[in-house]
Amino acid sequence: MAGKKLSNQTAIVTGANSGIGEGVAISLGEAGANMVINYVANPDAANAVVEKIKSFGSNAIAVQADVSKEDQVISMFQQTVQQFGTVDILVNNAGLQRDAKFHEMTLAQWQLVIDINLTGQFLCAREAIREFLRRGIVPERSVACGKIICMSSVHELIPWSGHANYATSKGGIKMLMQSMAQEYGREKIRVNSICPGAIKTPINKTAWETPEAYNSLMTLIPYDRIGVPEDIGKLAVFLASDDSDYITGASIFIDGGMTVFEGFATGG
Ligand code: NAD
Repeated sequence: MAGKKLSNQTAIVTGANSGIGEGVAISLGEAGANMVINYVANPDAANAVVEKIKSFGSNAIAVQADVSKEDQVISMFQQTVQQFGTVDILVNNAGLQRDAKFHEMTLAQWQLVIDINLTGQFLCAREAIREFLRRGIVPERSVACGKIICMSSVHELIPWSGHANYATSKGGIKMLMQSMAQEYGREKIRVNSICPGAIKTPINKTAWETPEAYNSLMTLIPYDRIGVPEDIGKLAVFLASDDSDYITGASIFIDGGMTVFEGFATGG
């Protein structure tokens, strides 16, 4: 796989058998990276992503791990290093929602979302940085020692009633990402967040599956379309490649303008 933007680099994408993670994994694979397709359930879907990436001529394996479990995350990195020699790129994508009115939210709903969306990103990023530091820079592959992309959300900025656990996890990712970027910049490790608006995936099906829901969603999006996983995939390739070498500690919003607050278009 020589001559492509991410040739000879190895990328782990968590939660890569669905939605945004799948789109990102396919884009990175198309750009030449060896791909680790992490999944927690539904191995058939993970294997389908592996086969699609192999059809581009890139290497890919599926690795099962629950990102909220330390031993499973460590094992996923060990399997990756065993298979491909190292890790160059981590996309911390796995996440879920457990929505509830705040006064009715159970501790279990709160804890699950924090454990997977936030602690999961900590555990995976820690293993990635350990591996980056062990390996050091390999100039033939990248001028950076390693790249981490955190899948955040417009909800690291926009409060979200009925989703306090989710919005809190994304607000936490902002500080996690920036603290890592600050701590490891001198080692040439770049850490950035992608902050999607509404992207058409299973996580937010109720927001787009009927015309009424879709039209209501569009009142929030000046660009007047829902996003698709390929939109995020293209940005992930840019952030993983040396094209973005001077970008670290950044939250990049990819939301059709959702964060310009369309509700104020008529004067507020
Ligand atoms: P999705 O439900 O299609 O995908 C989520 C993936 O995470 C699935 O593959 C799921 O199996 C995996 N996952 C869940 N728990 C896991 C665990 N413990 N270990 C490993 N994997 C686990 O939803 P999506 O929209 O593709 O979401 C992906 C990411 O994008 C999430 O972090 C989400 O918060 C974020 N996001 C999505 C949108 C959107 O509009 N779809 C907007 C902003 C942010």
